[in-house]
Amino acid sequence: MASSLPRNSAQTPKKVEFSEAEASDFEESSAEEILTWAIQNYHPRLALSASFGAPEGMVLLHMMHQLEATSRVFVIDTGRLPQETHDLVDRMRERYDKPVEVLFPDAADIGALARAQGMNGFYESAENRRACCRVRKVEPLRRYLADLDAYVTGLRREQNENRRNARKVEVDPAHGGVVKLNPLADWTEEQVLAYVRSHDVPVNRLHAKGYPSVGCAPCTRAVARGEDPRAGRWWWEDDRVKECGLHVADEEQGSGI
Ligand code: SF4
Repeated sequence: MASSLPRNSAQTPKKVEFSEAEASDFEESSAEEILTWAIQNYHPRLALSASFGAPEGMVLLHMMHQLEATSRVFVIDTGRLPQETHDLVDRMRERYDKPVEVLFPDAADIGALARAQGMNGFYESAENRRACCRVRKVEPLRRYLADLDAYVTGLRREQNENRRNARKVEVDPAHGGVVKLNPLADWTEEQVLAYVRSHDVPVNRLHAKGYPSVGCAPCTRAVARGEDPRAGRWWWEDDRVKECGLHVADEEQGSGI
């Protein structure tokens, strides 16, 4: 545990600077240790990014809530989310009595997007799909992160090729150097599901209907048993171009929420 890292004060928010070598110290830390360190150093300028469409975010929400009842969580409502995802936001509110910060796309940008490519233009090309993800996800996130010092994600290295090198603690150059924490980076899917069961963590009801990863309704389908869990996201695209820009600096690779 890298306890020697500089501390930040919630009263005097500013980003904690640290080197690559110091960030490496966290690779041996548990998820709870990383979250404890993050809350001590960054709360309340720290928030969890949860899609409410994957169990990882709900595991982290549960952990953070146990550590700090006023820990913050946000979701990007793209305008195309399924009902089950909205249901989970409210189920979570009931369970934890915790408000959710909901980010929305800019209405003018949505209007321009619809004029340029129609309502479902994302099926027509990777360029159109990235433009839609940019307006509905990437830009709302960029605006929101400008007011934070650190954020937490549920990225795991085994999820896909683009996440293979994710560190547990890293600086996010795509968002002004905000600190990005991936406490579950080395977790397996089995560990995530075991945690959900043992702590009775609420998860999206679509998981039980064959949707291991739930994103926007028109861009998510169920997967067959044994199929790659993320095969149901942007299934018409090659895996190398699937991401949408939230978790990598190069938007050509994208993100995945
Ligand atoms: Fe648009 Fe699909 Fe991306 Fe959602 S996942 S923002 S609907 S392209």
